[in-house]
Amino acid sequence: MHPFTFSGLPTRVIFGSGTIEAIGSEVERLDKKRAFIVCSEPQKREGERLGQLLGNACVDVYSGAVLHTPVRVTKDAIRATTGAASDCVVSIGGGSAIGLGKAIALRLGIPQICVPTTYAGSEMTPILGQMEDGEKKTLTDPTILPKTVIYDIELTKSLPARLSAASGLNAIAHAAEALYAQNCNPIVSMLAQEGIAALVRSLPRIMADLKDDLGRSDALYGAWLCGVCLGSVGMALHHKLCHVVGGSFDLPHAETHAILLPHALAYNLEAAPAALEALRVATGANDPTKRIYDLSRSFGLPASLSEIGFGEENIERAATLALKNSYWNPRRFDESSIRDILRAACDGRAPNAFHGADCRL
Ligand code: NAD
Repeated sequence: MHPFTFSGLPTRVIFGSGTIEAIGSEVERLDKKRAFIVCSEPQKREGERLGQLLGNACVDVYSGAVLHTPVRVTKDAIRATTGAASDCVVSIGGGSAIGLGKAIALRLGIPQICVPTTYAGSEMTPILGQMEDGEKKTLTDPTILPKTVIYDIELTKSLPARLSAASGLNAIAHAAEALYAQNCNPIVSMLAQEGIAALVRSLPRIMADLKDDLGRSDALYGAWLCGVCLGSVGMALHHKLCHVVGGSFDLPHAETHAILLPHALAYNLEAAPAALEALRVATGANDPTKRIYDLSRSFGLPASLSEIGFGEENIERAATLALKNSYWNPRRFDESSIRDILRAACDGRAPNAFHGADCRL
C-alpha cells in the first residue's frame, strides 16, 4: 500500500426519517439563538416549515438561492441577514441553497447547518463555487465546511424523477473521480465504492417509485459518502469540464455531470486501473462507463449536451477555458482531447469502450 495522509472531516451528521425535528436542538447545540434560513424559491414552504420548527430562534427565511451561487445574490442575502443580526445560517435544499449558506457563513464568520434535499453533496465539502463577472470560481477553506448536516429521507421524496436521477449521477461523479485522485487513499476509495454501489442499486428503485423508502434512504446514504469523497480529495478533468461548461454556459448542474461523466471516465480510466477495478465492482459491469451511460438513458435523462443548450459551436471556447488553469489528471490531456470529449458529449453517443484493461467480471 502507498503511504497516504487522511484527515477525517469534522462535520456532525444526523441521518434518518423525520430528523428535521432535531433542528432546534442542533441550533442550541452550537449555542446559537438567531438562525437565518436560506432556500431557493421553489422550496420556500420547506424553508418556512423549518422556521416554524425553530420558533423564536429563526430570524428570517431568505428564498433567493439560485444555481451557481452568484455573488450579487449573496450580497443581497447578506444585507438581509445583517439586518436580522443572525448568529448562524441554516440552509435547506440542494447545492444552490447550501452554496448560498456557505457564502454567507464564510463572509460573516458564522456556522452553517445544512438540510440537504438533493444528492449533490455540497454539504460535505469545504468548497464554495460562485459566479462573478460571467465566470465560476471556487475557493476552498476549512471554515466553509458546515458544522452539522441533517439528512432527512422524507425531504428527498419530493425530488422529481429527472432531478433525482441527474443528482444521483452527480454524486457518482464525485466518488468516481475520487478513485483516481492524486491524493486518493484507501479510506476514501472504500467510501467511493460503497457510495457508488448504493446509488447504482437505489436510483432504479426511485425511478420506479419516487417515495420508495429503501431506495430513498440508500440513495441519500450513497450521496453522503460521495460528498465526503468530493470534500476529501482533489477532483480532475470531469469536474473541471462540468465547472467550465456548467458555469460559463449556464447549464443545469446535475444534468451536465450526468451527460459528461461516461465520456470523461472513458478517457481517464485507461490510465487508472485501480479506479477501473473499483468501478467495476461498484457498478457490477465490465465497462462502468457504458453502465453509467445506460443507466442515464434508462432514467430518460438527456444524452447530449446539445439537448441542454450547449451546441458544438461552444466547444472551442469551452476547451480554451478548461485549459486556463493547470490541474492534475490521471491521464495527460490537451485541447484536442478536451474537444473530443466535449464532441462526444454533444453528440450524445455511447462512450468509447475500453481497450486498455482486461475484463474480470
Ligand atoms: P439545486 O440546488 O439548484 O436544486 C435544483 C432544484 O430542485 C431547485 O429548484 C430546488 O429548489 C429543487 N429541489 C431541491 N430539492 C428538492 C426536493 N427534495 N423536492 C423538490 N424540489 C427540490 O441543484 P443541485 O444539483 O442540488 O445543486 C447544484 C448547485 O450546487 C450548483 O451551483 C453546484 O455548483 C453546487 N454544488 C457545489 C458543491 C460544492 O462542494 N461546493 C458540490 C455539489 C454541487
